[in-house]
Amino acid sequence: MPDSPTNKVGSSAEKKFAQHKHKVRLYSLDNTYSYRDLELWYERLQKNYSLDTPPELVCELKIDGLAISLNYEQSNFVLGATRGDGVVGENITNNLKTIKAIPSKISANIASLEVRGEVFMPVDVFERLNDIQKQNNAKVFANPRNAAAGSLRQLDPEITRERMLSMFAYYGRIDSDEVSIKSHSEMLEFLKSQGFNINPNYKVCKDIDEAIKYCKLWDDKRKKLDYATDGVVIKINSFELQNEMGFTARAPRWATAYKFPPEEMSTIVEDIEVNVGRSGAVTPVAVLQPVFISGSTVQRATLHNFDEIKRLNINIGDRVLIKKAAEIIPKVICVTEHANNKLTPFEAPQYCPSCGTKLVPAEGEVNLYCPNSRNCPEQLKAKIEYWASKDCMDIDGIGGNIVSQMVDTGLVKTPADLYGLTIDDLKKLNLVADKSAQNLYNVIQSSKRPVLSRFINSLGIRHVGKEMSEQLANKFLTLQNLIKSDYNELLAIDGCGDKIASSIIEFFSDSYNNDILEQLEKYGVVPQDVEDKRISKILEGMTFVITGTLSDTRDKFSAMIKANGGKTSSSVSKNTSYVLAGDNPGSKYDKAAALGVKIINENEFKKMIGS
Ligand SMILES: [Zn+2]
Repeated sequence: MPDSPTNKVGSSAEKKFAQHKHKVRLYSLDNTYSYRDLELWYERLQKNYSLDTPPELVCELKIDGLAISLNYEQSNFVLGATRGDGVVGENITNNLKTIKAIPSKISANIASLEVRGEVFMPVDVFERLNDIQKQNNAKVFANPRNAAAGSLRQLDPEITRERMLSMFAYYGRIDSDEVSIKSHSEMLEFLKSQGFNINPNYKVCKDIDEAIKYCKLWDDKRKKLDYATDGVVIKINSFELQNEMGFTARAPRWATAYKFPPEEMSTIVEDIEVNVGRSGAVTPVAVLQPVFISGSTVQRATLHNFDEIKRLNINIGDRVLIKKAAEIIPKVICVTEHANNKLTPFEAPQYCPSCGTKLVPAEGEVNLYCPNSRNCPEQLKAKIEYWASKDCMDIDGIGGNIVSQMVDTGLVKTPADLYGLTIDDLKKLNLVADKSAQNLYNVIQSSKRPVLSRFINSLGIRHVGKEMSEQLANKFLTLQNLIKSDYNELLAIDGCGDKIASSIIEFFSDSYNNDILEQLEKYGVVPQDVEDKRISKILEGMTFVITGTLSDTRDKFSAMIKANGGKTSSSVSKNTSYVLAGDNPGSKYDKAAALGVKIINENEFKKMIGS
């Protein structure tokens, strides 16, 4: 993930590797957190693809390492890259060549092969490495994954070699007519025969019940492994079925990742701090005695709000149970032992700890807010940090410490002020050695032309996150169109209800926000317009449901519908304009007939769009 701590490791080397555009995108997987969700996923596939016999699955342990892609040409290893954002990664070929589990040559005669896998550091190697780091007063790694990431991105491959990394391969893509592989399990065996390290614990399962048994078994057994795993990847085995199911915008439909339930650990609350977020929300945070849990060291856990403190009856010095799932902020579950019952209960503050303004409760929420949104230093810092973050303007090198100084010295009061900073201004800041004022000036200045969706996300409009920003950008194409948009136009967007629409309208009618937008424009901070990729608007306002087997994948047809301005949906309702039906259409066909929805075949569809 772009914002994961692994990216911070060795980040000074970050820009020194050449970029590599992957031939075929590396998708991420959708996550599942319960057995019931696994059953639902499986049932949905059976239903949507009208599968009469339960499709075979392959279960593999999900290794907590770093995804990489290896390219072989004429049977030789020629290029290896990190996953990056799935589209573009970094070329780290020389470092990967030092890993013994990666063959430099394969025996099969194949013109082009791509292998994907997970590079990891075995736990015993990790512990030894940290011992040595400690002895040398060098940086100690938080977990094996960070250590693996740091080791892979060394400029000197010899250091990578010393770190004794390993890899499990879990995917292969062959451009050859001579080798015909029909399923994922066959592919794994093929890769094994070519000298790749395959995780020996994978299993072919006849249905989802068997797969769930596998998950249950490994939830316990994993603790004995000498590498970290955080779940099980479950894939449809047949390549033919995989091709039919295809991908959503983010992930394959034919695979899912079951995440093991989070571990719980016990630790002591050393302090309770009060945080002010970018929206002004004031939240209590427990400062903990550091504890290693679910693969990383945890030192802070959210307490959500002041009611939660009362509910947990928590105070400084108490022993607590904390829990952390992979992407979730650690959370305090309960107090297991009170340190001192005579301690006065922790009270919610009445005034903002940052600016001293009287806090106010928000309507319909348990949170308290600092209403001083324009001048409260902590809020400003959080806003600017958010503005510069990866999913927003992506200004590399503007982290918490630098933002803090910019706000405290009064140099920056709004995001627009960043772009007015001169090199002399930046020289006033206390910068770390490898970040010069000139560097910082350059990265700020070079961030002025973001894509529209990231610019919208940066604005921090309440209730508008990354995905809604993308939807808004695709709908309105330019910032001006979005600013001019009205309530009804906004409501027409998928997932945009009254709350979001009102918030957007409110944001753009506020003169303070408009001043900032004006200043940004003056500094040349102008988002790129979205290119209108639609070929035509013939299908505008129409919703299609696709069913049965067509001459090409459903994704292809779905893309054709979108390219002509239409929408697709997965279920038939009275709002469906047309059902596009191929061979063996299944239950959607019957439902469409019952509802009187018009059913068309492929030829009729092609006539509609004039192709
Ligand atoms: Zn404040």
